[in-house]
Amino acid sequence: KYDGPEYNTLRTLKDKHVVPCIQQYYKTPLLINEGKMQWLFDHDGRRYLDMFGGIVTVSVGHCHPKVCEAARKQMEKLWHTTNIYMHPNLYTYAEKLTSKLPGDLKVVYFLNSGSEANDLALLLARAYTQNYDIISFRNCYHGMSPYVMGVTALSTWRFNFPVMHGFHHTMNPDVYKGLWGGKLCRDSPSQTTRDCNCLGGKCQASDNYYNQLEEIFKYSLPRGKVAGIIAESIQGVGGTVQFPKGFLKKAFHLVRTNGGLCISDEVQTGFGRTGEHFWGFEMHDVIPDIVTLAKGIGNGFPLSAVITTPKIAETLGHALHFNTYGGNPVATAVGMSVLEVIEEEKLQQNCKDVGTYLINELEKLRDEFEWVGDVRGKGLMIGVELVADKETRDPFPAKYFVDLMEDCKNMGLLLGRGGLNGNVIRIKPPMCITKEDAGFTVSVLRRALLNHEERRI
Ligand code: PMP
Repeated sequence: KYDGPEYNTLRTLKDKHVVPCIQQYYKTPLLINEGKMQWLFDHDGRRYLDMFGGIVTVSVGHCHPKVCEAARKQMEKLWHTTNIYMHPNLYTYAEKLTSKLPGDLKVVYFLNSGSEANDLALLLARAYTQNYDIISFRNCYHGMSPYVMGVTALSTWRFNFPVMHGFHHTMNPDVYKGLWGGKLCRDSPSQTTRDCNCLGGKCQASDNYYNQLEEIFKYSLPRGKVAGIIAESIQGVGGTVQFPKGFLKKAFHLVRTNGGLCISDEVQTGFGRTGEHFWGFEMHDVIPDIVTLAKGIGNGFPLSAVITTPKIAETLGHALHFNTYGGNPVATAVGMSVLEVIEEEKLQQNCKDVGTYLINELEKLRDEFEWVGDVRGKGLMIGVELVADKETRDPFPAKYFVDLMEDCKNMGLLLGRGGLNGNVIRIKPPMCITKEDAGFTVSVLRRALLNHEERRI
C-alpha cells in the first residue's frame, strides 16, 4: 500500500527542488511504489510489466527475495567501507566474479557506477600504455562524468563545453542506418539488420567501416599510437546497435598492434543477458584487456567493477587510488547473491530461450506494420527501430513515439526509448521474464501500433 505524499504534492516538490535534467517517461510520469520480479506497481496499486528492467539495471528481478535477504543480513551486521580494513565479502566475491571471466582477467576494482568504472578503465589504459588517445564509436554511451562524456558520442548527451581532449570517434558500423550496409550494401541489399549478411559473415560494408578506423590512426593519432579503444558489445542507449560479425575482432587487433588496450563496456550486455554467452564480448570472439561492469551486476544496487589483468592492474600501484564506497560489504553481498541467482535460476538460458522467441514474434510486427523498420538484438537485449517510412528509414516522429509509449503504459507495459533520434524501442527486461510475458509484450505493442494507425486515419 502506498503511504507517501500525494501525487501532485510530489510533482510540485520535483519541479521546485530537483534539477531539470532528471526527465521522466510519460506525460503523467509514473509514481512507482513497489517492485516484484518483472513487475512494478504504482501508487494506485496498478501493475506493469517492466520490459526495461528499470533501465537495464534489474537483472534477476525487482526485490528478488534472495538478493534482499543477502542485503538485509549484511546491513544488520556491518556497512562500513572495507578499503582500509579487510572484509571477507570483497575477496570472496572478487574470486567468484573473476571466475566468470576468461583468460587473465582476474583482478577487480569495485566502484559504484558505470561512469566511474569507465573513468577508471580509461585511466588504466593511459597509465599502462603511456599513450593518451582513446577511440570510441559514434552513437556510443559510456557515461556522464566530465571524463567519459568525451568518449560518449551521442550529441544529445553532450553539453556545450570542451570535454577533455584526446578522444576520437570512429564511424559506427551501423548496417541499418549507416553510410554502408543495409539497403545500400553492394553485396546483398537487405531490408533489415537481421537479413543483412554483415551480421553473418564477411561484407564490404564492414570493411569500409574498418577502413575508417584505420584512417583515425593515419590522420589523427600522434605517431599512430593509441591508449585504447572502448566499445559496448551491443550499443545500448544508442538503440541496440550491433557490430557486423568479425568487425570488433579486427578493430581490437588493429588497436593492439598500435600499442593500445581494448576495453569492453559490459554495463548493459553482461551477466548472461545476451543469452548465448555470459559476456557480450564473447559473441565477437575477443578477450578484452579491461572489462567494465555496472547496472545488472547489483540488480539495481549501486555497484560497479573494473576487471583487468594482474599486469595492467600493477599500474594502479604507482599512486594512491581510493574509492570510499567501492566494494563495501553490502554491495558485495548483493553482487554475490546476484551471481548465485543467475546460476540457480538458469537465467542466461532463459534470456536465450525467451529472447529468441520474443525477437521472432517482434519480427512479425515488422512484417505487419509500415513503421516497424528493424528488429535486432540478442537474448533479452532487443531494439525495435520505428521509422516514418521503411524505404527512407527516416525516424518515426517523436510525438507519435510518445503516444505509443503512453498507450503501452496504459495497457500495463513499460518499454525503454533510445537511439540518437529517440525512435528505437528498447526491450531489456529483468532476465526472469517468461514466454507469456513476451507474448503479452507483443500483443500490447501490436495494439498500440494499431491505435497509431487508427489515429492517423
Ligand atoms: N556504459 C553503458 C553502456 C551504459 O549504458 C551506462 C548507463 N546508461 C553507463 C556506462 C554509465 O553508467 P552510470 O549511469 O551508472 O554511470
